[in-house]
Amino acid sequence: MIPVIRVDERDNVAIPVADLPEGSEAGWGVVAREQIPQGHKIALEDIPEGGAVIRYGVALGHLLAGVPQGGLITEKMLRLPDSPDLDSLEFATDIDAELPEAPVKSFEGFEVEGAPFAGTRNILGIMPTVQCVAGVLNGAVKRMRRELLPRFPHVDDIVALNHPYGCGVAIDAPEAAVPIRTLRNILRNPNFGGEIMVVGLGCEKLTADRLLEPEEIRPGNVLMLQEHAGFVKMTDALMEMAERKLRRLEDRRRTTLPFSRLCVGMQCGGSDAFSGITANPAAGYASDLLVGAGATVLFSEVTEVRDGVEQLAARCVNSAVGRRLVEEMRWYDEYLRAGGVDRSANPTPGNKKGGLANIVEKAMGSIAKSGRAPISEALAPGERPSAGGLVFAATPASDMVCGTCQLASGMTLQVFMTGRGTPYGLAAAPVIKVSSRSNLKDMWSDLIDVDAGVIASGGSDIRTVGEQLFREIVEVASGRKRPAAERYRLFNDICLFNPAPIT
Ligand code: CA
Repeated sequence: MIPVIRVDERDNVAIPVADLPEGSEAGWGVVAREQIPQGHKIALEDIPEGGAVIRYGVALGHLLAGVPQGGLITEKMLRLPDSPDLDSLEFATDIDAELPEAPVKSFEGFEVEGAPFAGTRNILGIMPTVQCVAGVLNGAVKRMRRELLPRFPHVDDIVALNHPYGCGVAIDAPEAAVPIRTLRNILRNPNFGGEIMVVGLGCEKLTADRLLEPEEIRPGNVLMLQEHAGFVKMTDALMEMAERKLRRLEDRRRTTLPFSRLCVGMQCGGSDAFSGITANPAAGYASDLLVGAGATVLFSEVTEVRDGVEQLAARCVNSAVGRRLVEEMRWYDEYLRAGGVDRSANPTPGNKKGGLANIVEKAMGSIAKSGRAPISEALAPGERPSAGGLVFAATPASDMVCGTCQLASGMTLQVFMTGRGTPYGLAAAPVIKVSSRSNLKDMWSDLIDVDAGVIASGGSDIRTVGEQLFREIVEVASGRKRPAAERYRLFNDICLFNPAPIT
C-alpha cells in the first residue's frame, strides 16, 4: 500500500508518497476516485464549493467547485485567501520553545580579526566595482588559479565576485542602498579572511569609497584598469596584487571554535509538496540544534513566509524585533504592488508540478526550516546581524538572490532544501543540498548530500535526519567534507537585489 501523509489532524487533504492509482486505498476509509500523482492532494472528505482546503492545519484556499471524497485537488481549483493582516499581529507570545541539545559543541573554523563570525573556507575573493571589468578579471582569475593557487596549499580557491552593478545605475536613489550594502558586506564575508581586493574601471558610478572605509582605499587594495597600459599590463598587475593577498591568506589556520562563531544560512528552492514535511522540518531541527548551541542561523525569502507572518510574529523575542519583521514584510508588499503583482507571483511551474497548490501551501512548508527557536533579530536585505540566534534576514526568494544577500549577512555555509532538484551552488560558501524525496536522491545521487525523503517513506524521522544534517553541517564547516556543489564547482553568479532604477 502506498503511504498517504496527513500533516495535521485538522487537514481535509493528504498527499501520497508515490503515484496513487485510481481505486486504491488512501487510508481513513478513503478510496482514490482517480489517479493522484505523487505529492498531490487527495480530498479526505466531500468538500463543497467555497469550502476550505486545509493542510498544515490552515486554509490553503477555497474551492471554486466542490470535490468529492477521494478526488484530486489541483492548484487551478483553489481561490487564494487574502494575505494575513500586518496591523493586528501579536509579538513574543511563542518564545519558550525548548531547543534540543547539540551532540557536538565546537567546529574548526578560520578566525577573522575583528569579525563576529569565522570562515568555513579560506578564499581569495576579488570584487569588481563594475561589470565592465568582468572579462579582464575572469581571464586573470583563470591564470591565478593555474599559476598561483598551487603554490598556496592552505588557500581553498580564488573567486571573481562578478555582479551586474556599478555603471548606468541611479546610485543616489534611496533603494540603491540595498545593492551597495550587499556588495560592501560580501567583501567582508569571513570566508575571504579580511583581505580586500577591489578591481574598478575608472569611470563607474560605484566608486571604491562606496564599498570601502577611507583607510582601506589604497593601491594595495584597489586596482583601476584605466590606469594600466593595456590588457597584458592589467593582468600582470592583478597577478601581482593577488599574490600579495594569497601570501597572507596562506598563513591562516583552522582553530577549534564555539558555535557562536558560525553563521549558517537556510534556503529552499525547487520546492515540492514534500519539502514541508521532510527536508524543511529536518533543516528546522538542525537549525534548533545550531541555535541551541549558540550559532547564528539565517532564514529568508519574504514571499515564502509572508503567509505565516502570524507564527513568525509570535516567535519574535520582543515587539521591537516584531516591528522590524513587519516593516520588512510591508516593504515587500509595496515592492510587489508597485510591480503590478502580489505574492501569488511566487510559485513556479515546477512547484505546481510537485503538488504545491499556491503560496500559502508553499509558505507553510517553507517556514518549517526555521525550526522552533525564537527570532532574535530581523534584517533588511544584505544587512549584517548584531545578535546571534535565529535571524530573519529578509531577501527575495529567488535562489541566487537569496544566496547573494545571505553571503552579505555573513553566512559562511548554506543549507539548501530542494524537491524538484537544482544544481545550485555558491563559489563563496559551501552549499549542502537536502532532497525532500528519495527518488530525487536516487536520480541525482552525486548532487544531493542528504536525503530527507526517508522521512516520508517511514524509514526515518525528522529528528534523526535533522541530527544527521547537523553533523553534516559541522563536517562541512570544519573543512573535513566538501558537498557535491563544491566538489564539482557548480557555482551560480552573484545576483544582486537591486530595487532601485537603472538609468
Ligand atoms: Ca529560494
